[in-house]
Order: sequence, then C-alpha cells, then structure tokens
Amino acid sequence: MADAPTEKPLPEPDEASQPFWDSAERGEFMLMKCSDCGAFRLPSRQHCDRCLSTEYTWERASGRGTVRTFGIMHQRYHPGFVPDLPYNVTIVELDEGPRLPTNLVGVSNAAIRVGMPVVVDWERHSDVTLPKFRPV
Ligand SMILES: [Zn+2]
Repeated sequence: MADAPTEKPLPEPDEASQPFWDSAERGEFMLMKCSDCGAFRLPSRQHCDRCLSTEYTWERASGRGTVRTFGIMHQRYHPGFVPDLPYNVTIVELDEGPRLPTNLVGVSNAAIRVGMPVVVDWERHSDVTLPKFRPV
C-alpha cells in the first residue's frame, strides 16, 4: 500500500493575522495600514515598523505588485512539495509597499522576470486561502 501524499504545511492564522485570512476567503486582499504614518504592515502585527504606532485600520489593497526577486527550488526541503519540483519562490513587492514571499502561478519558471507585473490569484485549501500571484 502506497503512503498517502504528504500535505504541505499551511499558515496558521493568529490573532493579528486572522482578518487577513478571513478576507482572503472572500477574495479580498486586506492589509493593516498605520493610522499615524500610513505605512502598510505585512505580516500583520501590533506595531508599525516605521513609527512604532499600535494604531491601524484594515484597508483593501490592490492585489497588484511586481516581482522583486525569485528563486527556483530544485531540492526537496519538505516532502509535501516534491510533486511541484522544480517550483519558484518569489518575493512580490505589493503596489502598497510590503514585500510578500509567495509563488507565481500560470507562468513557466523560465519565463519569470524581475520587474514582471503580477496580480493575486487565490489558492483555496480546506482551512486557508493562500495569496499566489500570476503575471498581469
Ligand atoms: Zn506608522
């Protein structure tokens, strides 16, 4: 009998990030925005990196950004990712400023370029919806 495929590890929402994951379920890309200096926070956290304010609002983001850098993974680091090898790990700089580690979908690894404009493409799992990105 073959072993069942190993599941990929998935993010576990905490108190600060729960609204982000709830909005992702609805297909909305929400970010914390500092009420004092206007900087966006990602990952979600209680204080602002720029001014240390603890005040914020949740704002709907564009879901758009550009590829800042990327790498192609050829080695198995977790058994859940074996079926995807080789896969990309991409840092997307959101139009709002924060940078997000993610994967590009809908594009071959060989076609990924730094500076490529991308848009969010939600990947639904049973417990969480992940922000992946695809070329615009
Ligand atoms: Zn701030």
